[in-house]
Amino acid sequence: MKLKPILKAENGFEFLQSEIVEKNLCDGCGICAEVCERIKIVEGLPELVEPCLLYLGASECGKRGLCVDNCPQWEERRGFELLKAKIIDEGLCTGCGACAAFCERIELVDGVPTSVKDCIMKLDAIQCGEYGLCYDHCSARLPPIAELETRIFGSVREDELLGVYRRIFSARSTDPEILKHSQDGGIVSSILSYGLENEIFEGVIVTRGTAGDRWKPEPVVVVTPEEIASAAGTIYSVSPSIMGLGEVIKTTELKKIAVVGTPCQIKATRNIQEHLFRKAEDIDITTIGVFCMENFEYSCLTNFIENELLAGSGQKFKDVTKTDITRGRFHAYTEKGDFDVDIKDLDKCIKSSCRVCTDFASEFADLSVGSVGSPDGWSTVVIRSEKGEQVMNGIIEAGKIEEGDVKIDMVKKIAKMKKEHAAKAAEANEGGE
Ligand SMILES: Cc1cc2nc3c(=O)[nH]c(=O)nc-3n(C[C@H](O)[C@H](O)[C@H](O)COP(=O)(O)OP(=O)(O)OC[C@H]3O[C@@H](n4cnc5c(N)ncnc54)[C@H](O)[C@@H]3O)c2cc1C
Ligand code: SF4
Ligand code: SF4
Ligand code: SF4
Repeated sequence: MKLKPILKAENGFEFLQSEIVEKNLCDGCGICAEVCERIKIVEGLPELVEPCLLYLGASECGKRGLCVDNCPQWEERRGFELLKAKIIDEGLCTGCGACAAFCERIELVDGVPTSVKDCIMKLDAIQCGEYGLCYDHCSARLPPIAELETRIFGSVREDELLGVYRRIFSARSTDPEILKHSQDGGIVSSILSYGLENEIFEGVIVTRGTAGDRWKPEPVVVVTPEEIASAAGTIYSVSPSIMGLGEVIKTTELKKIAVVGTPCQIKATRNIQEHLFRKAEDIDITTIGVFCMENFEYSCLTNFIENELLAGSGQKFKDVTKTDITRGRFHAYTEKGDFDVDIKDLDKCIKSSCRVCTDFASEFADLSVGSVGSPDGWSTVVIRSEKGEQVMNGIIEAGKIEEGDVKIDMVKKIAKMKKEHAAKAAEANEGGE
């Protein structure tokens, strides 16, 4: 599938050109040329005869441009149509579930957002805004980074690779029960348990395997430390985690909520906070992001593990007790031992959106946690916001974790690598490769 960076040409005639004309949607109706004398219809298509200034005589042209706003083709492409054209069909959908979380007109069918009822740009009593709430929530969209950082952290980044942060350190849970189930140092589970026990959170959105398949991820809302333990460990497949946020808001009275997710899921949560919850002061969300280099399509990964990695071993995917990616290799652990493979062999299973994703260290979370930069069995913790710092200070004071040395350069190296890969992938897609 062809990938493109979204909304490259944001405004005016450039936008009309890239989104309508180049996509063969223009039928030459000439309305754009009627509303602006800088445009002429030449051989059935609009052409600019004078520079577009987003300024028309005495009036401003608005954010998008009068030509765009009046284009009947563009008019039709708002709400779900817009989401489909710009995100889903372009291979940029991360499968986060944020579009479907609050709109019953969208469902995820095999992980793909699908319109199941006509989009009416209206969500219960709420108008869906200029482009549609589904589009505004989408994890593949972000406001300008400095704007977002100022809103959530009160400052902008000094470190291009890691984003805004107050402190980075290595840590491990002091609770042997948590360590038994967790992926690395059990820091995510420690944060969640501490938060619930101390009423900082009333509910937590985590990802865990379904009842019938331990490796098929689904979001769940949990309220006890026991339930948190049941969701510990990493599932390397895309989870529509933000559906869990929708569920908790729509079906419960819980207001203090923690969301655990990959960097894309954290971005969607930030979008929702801005667009849907901006005026809902009683809803208090804490975001815990995990580091993420890439994620995999569930059916492709399952097939690979069952039919290639475990082939001839007598072991099935259901026998796998843990999966992990370390030092460039994917590992599947079973009672019969560790089966591993070069991570490059899993390239075909990487979700297309991950190839252009630039965020490794969950740059917009309150707290980010990963394994890179720490010894085996430990986690790297990034404290970013004041809220994250308060929670983490409480955990440290309560003796719930122990601290160790972190290799920040290692985290930066991987973050840089991810940004470079994404830039190359975007360039290749632009060039039509
Ligand atoms: C898809 C994916 C890719 C990752 N890639 C890297 C990487 O390249 N480098 C790196 O250093 N770290 C990576 N991580 C993070 C790492 O695997 C651990 O999650 C992290 O170190 C926290 O460990 P812990 O022991 O503190 O977490 P635990 O206490 O074990 O808790 C893990 C939490 O992760 C959540 N979770 C599990 N699977 C998913 C999922 N598919 N989507 C969303 N949430 C999930 C669970 O809800 C659970 O709460 C990745 C995580 C995921 C989910
Ligand atoms: S969220 Fe709004 S714009 Fe999007 S599909 Fe639903 S009704 Fe349409
Ligand atoms: S990235 Fe998330 S919000 Fe955007 S289309 Fe995909 S599932 Fe919907
Ligand atoms: S690589 Fe990016 S898009 Fe893919 S799962 Fe990780 S954060 Fe999401």
